[in-house]
Amino acid sequence: MSELRDLYQEVVLDHGRHPHNFRHMDEASHQSVGFNPLCGDKLTLFLRYEDDVVQDVSFQGSGCAISTASASLLTDAIKGKSRAEVEELIAAFLDMLTAESPPDPERLGKLAVLSGVRDFPVRVKCATLSWRTLEAALGGTDEVTTE
Ligand code: ZN
Repeated sequence: MSELRDLYQEVVLDHGRHPHNFRHMDEASHQSVGFNPLCGDKLTLFLRYEDDVVQDVSFQGSGCAISTASASLLTDAIKGKSRAEVEELIAAFLDMLTAESPPDPERLGKLAVLSGVRDFPVRVKCATLSWRTLEAALGGTDEVTTE
């Protein structure tokens, strides 16, 4: 188990250092700003959602390794997905970190690398920030804060 933990940590650190889809998007159909005052993480999430498919997704901002890695993994996970699939993934991800009986991590694919964060309550908001921001963007809310 500890080897697995080390591997997870490596993946998280790698995404934190070299985030995927870290760029501004001019032609976004949805966007929202998320802020986690507890840690100082702040990010803007951009979506181009057309024909019930996430055609493109990107983010910008500054935050700790966990918030950045989570946003990076989010962009990889939702590209090409329908709104229903995205909403299911948001719920599963939030459950993975906050529910008393978390879902089977297999359902979360690569996102399962962040499951260990649930053991560190102060970091949970770092990991959930981008997902809350995605939820806000899809719901037409410009801004969201984790507090
Ligand atoms: Zn953070």
